[in-house]
Amino acid sequence: MLDDCQTTLETDVEARFGIQRRDFMKFCAALAATMGLPKGADAQIAAAITKKERPSVIWLHHQECTGCSESLLRSEHPTLEKLILDIISLDYHETLFAAAGHQAEAARLAAMEKNKGKYILVVEGAIPTKDGGIYCKIGGQTSLELTRQCAEHAAAIVAVGSCASWGGMPSTPPNPTGSAGVGEALGRKDIVTIPGCPPNPYNILATVVHFLTFGKLPALDDKGRPLFAYGRLIHENCERRAHFDAGRFALDFGDEGHRKGYCLYKLGCKGPETYANCPSILFNDVGTGSWPVGTGHPCIGCTEKGIGFAKPIHALAELQNQRPPAGYPRISEEQGTGATAGAAALVAGIAGVAVGAGAVLAKNLGKSEKSEDGQE
Ligand code: SF4
Repeated sequence: MLDDCQTTLETDVEARFGIQRRDFMKFCAALAATMGLPKGADAQIAAAITKKERPSVIWLHHQECTGCSESLLRSEHPTLEKLILDIISLDYHETLFAAAGHQAEAARLAAMEKNKGKYILVVEGAIPTKDGGIYCKIGGQTSLELTRQCAEHAAAIVAVGSCASWGGMPSTPPNPTGSAGVGEALGRKDIVTIPGCPPNPYNILATVVHFLTFGKLPALDDKGRPLFAYGRLIHENCERRAHFDAGRFALDFGDEGHRKGYCLYKLGCKGPETYANCPSILFNDVGTGSWPVGTGHPCIGCTEKGIGFAKPIHALAELQNQRPPAGYPRISEEQGTGATAGAAALVAGIAGVAVGAGAVLAKNLGKSEKSEDGQE
C-alpha cells in the first residue's frame, strides 16, 4: 500500500514538475533551509506543494523594468520557473499572459471574483501617486486605482522588488511622478515586501510556499521583509569579510587588490548597512550561483530604502561596529619609507582603527611588495 502511494507521488511529481521525486525533495529541503525551518518542514512543504488546489495569484506591473519577473523566469535552476508556475495559478500577469486587452482584464476580474478573499496579490513596480496617479495607466485605470481594486479582497499582498517595496529607482529625487511603494501608496502596513533589484527568486518562492504550507506569512521585520531573508547584514556573511577584517581593500576597479578579491568597502560597497541573504543564497542557482560582490562589484544596497539608488556609489557605508582607517596604503605603492612601522600603527590607532587591523597595517608597512607576494 505504502509502495503504491509512493509510486503515485513519484508519478505525480514527475508528470507535474518534470523532475524526479528525489530532486523534488531536495528542492523542498532547500526551501526549508532558506526559511530556517526545523527538521521535518521539508515534508510539510512537499505535501503543500503537491496539493491539487493551487492558490490564485494576480500579478500587477507598474513603474518598473520587469527585471523581477525576468529574474524569476531566467533562473538557471532547471526547475524553478516550472515549479512556481505549477505551485500557483497565475491568473493575471501582464508580461506572461497570452491574452491581451479586454480579454486580459476580464480574466483578472473573473479570477478575483471566483477567489474573493483567497487570492494572493503580487505587485511589481512603483505606483505613481502625483496628480491622481495619471503617470501609469493599465486598461484605462491608474496603477493606484488598479492596485486598490485588487488589494481590497486579497488574502495577502506581496510587493516584489525594490520599486514595489519602497519606490526604488522611480522614486529617486526629484521623483516627478510621486512614485511610492505599495504600502505607502495604499496607506497600509500589512504588506510583505521582498526588495532587491532584482529580488532573489528563492525568497519570492519561499514566501509563497510558507503561506501555502502554514496558512500564514513568515515572520517579518519592521519594513515588512521576511526575516529569514533579510535578518542579517550582507557584511556578516560576505566571502570577502576576512579581507575587510585584515585591512585588505581594493582601491580602484582592476587594481591589484581588486584582482586578488580583496574587500570592496573602499569602492563603495554598501554591504555593511544592507540586510539581505545574497551571499548565502546567491543568484542563478542556489548554492552554486554568483552574486554582485562575488563577481567584483560593490553591493549597491538595493534592498534598503535610502541607500539603494539614493546613496552615491562612491559614498562609504556606515559601519555598525568599526570604521577602517583612511590610512591604509595603496597596495601597489612603495611602502616602508618616511615612517617606521610603529609610528604608522600609532597614526592608524589615532584614526580609530581596530587594534588587530592596526597591527596588520604596521606589519604591511614594514614589508616590500616583493616579500608579500613573492613577486615584484
Ligand atoms: Fe563584503 Fe562589502 Fe563587507 Fe567588504 S564591505 S566584506 S565586500 S560586504
